[in-house]
This record gives sequence, structure tokens and C-alpha cells, in this order.
Amino acid sequence: MSYPVITINKAKLEHNARRLAELCSKQGMRLVGVAKGVCAHPAVVEAMLAGGAAAIGDSRIDNLKRLRRHGYKGETILLRAPGPSQCQEAVMYADASLNSETSIVRLLGEAAIRAGKVHNVILMVDLGDLREGVMPEQAADAAAEFDRIPGIRLLGIGTNMACYGGVIPTREKMELLLQVKDQVEQRIGRPLERVSGGTSANIQLVLDGEMPHGITELRVGEGILLGTEAVERRPIPGCVRDAFLIKAEVIEVKTKPSKPMGKIGQDAFGNVPVFEDRGLRRRAIVSIGQQDIDLSSLFPRDKGVEILGASSDHLICDVEEAERPVNVGDILEFGLAYGTLLKAFTSPFVTKEVLEGCQIA
Ligand SMILES: *Cc1c(COP(=O)(O)O)cnc(C)c1O
Repeated sequence: MSYPVITINKAKLEHNARRLAELCSKQGMRLVGVAKGVCAHPAVVEAMLAGGAAAIGDSRIDNLKRLRRHGYKGETILLRAPGPSQCQEAVMYADASLNSETSIVRLLGEAAIRAGKVHNVILMVDLGDLREGVMPEQAADAAAEFDRIPGIRLLGIGTNMACYGGVIPTREKMELLLQVKDQVEQRIGRPLERVSGGTSANIQLVLDGEMPHGITELRVGEGILLGTEAVERRPIPGCVRDAFLIKAEVIEVKTKPSKPMGKIGQDAFGNVPVFEDRGLRRRAIVSIGQQDIDLSSLFPRDKGVEILGASSDHLICDVEEAERPVNVGDILEFGLAYGTLLKAFTSPFVTKEVLEGCQIA
């Protein structure tokens, strides 16, 4: 096998999905497994479904297409509204999509009719995070418009928080969403099937038992993949955080000064680096770089190994105080957070290794 590698522990992912599906179902919600953090890797999606995810959501149509090609027949939800050029593919590969613009929903309706289908739409409501969604006051009008478009079925409403503005989902925000639901139902004269209440950022609220009755689902990626909630990145009790590990090879080990010698200009990414002089230190170059990982979300598993920096292809570590001596040809292991997960799964240079039948512990 060729390094670098990201390992996928299916048992751990299934365990996290099961824990979150149970937490959600206790509060009347289903779990939508969100696969965009891993480019909808089939093994990860299988684990989500085995753990109890009721549907799979992704922001990218290509990822949904990948799932269908792999044989997934269950419900798919497109989490980012399609652009005009994507509406035909959106109705082919997504059973439902999250939307906020009438002109796009019209195109989806036309595409659905051409395909002989009805496309389901969730109207997104912006509760203050200022990413996608209509403002709450405009939701009833928008819903009435969506509802009249041929080829479209308005399934419900939804919201997304803690993504752009960092606004925390609270009980009050969830209650506001339920008020909007009432207004929409009055306007269109029928009940809505779905109220899609949020993401991994809502997990603390669920743990606190503060999700009001009436929210029907959460769309969760990070919580399943990494075992953390997405407001303060706290570990979720009962979930594991090491379902993925990065392994990469050491290609140079030398003792060198800790401060570069010469006049300092820009580094590979246009930043001017600053160094502390710690004297001569043993350093290792690991064969992985910023094309494959995000520096702030990569954590050495070996005690005493410290990440100093990285260019596109070289990760530089201080190994002077490594508990286990580091030599050329060794494999170093790293834990990771969302940024690295996303980059590693997107990088064609990182091998994805599925570990079957392993244990949780
Ligand atoms: C990414 C995304 C999610 C999942 O977010 P996590 O924080 O990974 O749980 C849910 N809904 C939408 C609209 C998204 O874009």
C-alpha cells in the first residue's frame, strides 16, 4: 500500500451514527447522515446507514451521484441549493433539496417535469446566521410561491446555523422556527411533513433535552464522523473521536537549527513566518502537505512530536522530544479535525483504507 493513508474504521462510525440516531429519536427526530466531509465515501455512508441514519444528505451533486452509482437506493437530500446549470442533475440524483430562491425552484420544477418526477423542496429560513434562507417574515410568502410551482412538492422548512455567522442554535431559535412553520401551514392550508432543525451544532441542545417538540430531523455530519458537536467542538458523550486516522511516511530526519538562516521573505503561501530560536533540534519531514491536510486540524498521536509547519507537500515536525524515536521510513500517525478530513478525502494523493470488522475500543 502507498502512503499517505487515511483509515476508515467502519465499526466506530456505525457506533457514532447509532448513538446519534438514538439521541435524535428520543426527541422525536430522525437522523440525516451528512456525507460531504468524506466526499460521500461509500464505506462511510454504509456505516451511517447501518447505525440508523434514515437518509443521506450532501452539498455536492457529484457526491450524491457517487452514492447512486454505488447502489444506494434510499433517500438523498441536496444540502446546497443547485445553480441553474445543476437543476436537471439535482432532480436526477436528489429526492429533496434545500432551497431559498423561487427562480431556482421554478427551474427545479421544470426539470422535474421533464424527468417525469416530482421534486421535494425544503424552504430554508435564516434565523440570524446569515448564510442561506429567507428571513422569517418572508417565509410564508416564499412557501406559498414554492407550493404553486408545478413539479415541486413543498415538504417542509429548515434552518442552518453556526456556519457563517457562528450563531448558536438555542431553544428560542428552534421555537422561532416552529412559529414560522405555523405561519407557513396557515398560509398554504396544510400541515408540513418536515422541520429540519439543524446540524452537529444542535447536538448540545439535544443532549440538554432542549429541542422543542415538532422539529422532525437533524442533518449531522461532524458528529458522526468525528464525535464532536460543532459549537465548541466538545466531545459527544458516548461517541468516539478516532474513526479516522492519517498515516504518513517520514522521508528525512536531521538535526538542524530551529531558526532559518538568511533573510526571511514569504513562505510557500505568501505568509512571512516567524521562528523561535530553540537551538539545534531533531526534525522529521513527513510526506504529506497542505494539499492533503489542514495544519490546524492535524494532531500527532506520538507523544513529544510537534508539528512545526508544512508546505504543499512536506510536513515538518520537531521530534527532539519524541518518546518513541523517529527514523527515516517510519510511519507517523495523526488524529484529525474537520479541515483535514475534508482535504484528505478530497485529495487524490491520499489512499483511503477501509478497516472492516474492527472493534470500537
Ligand atoms: C454541512 C451541512 C450540514 C452538516 O453539518 P455538520 O456540522 O457536519 O453536522 C447540515 N446541513 C447543511 C445545510 C450543511 O451545509
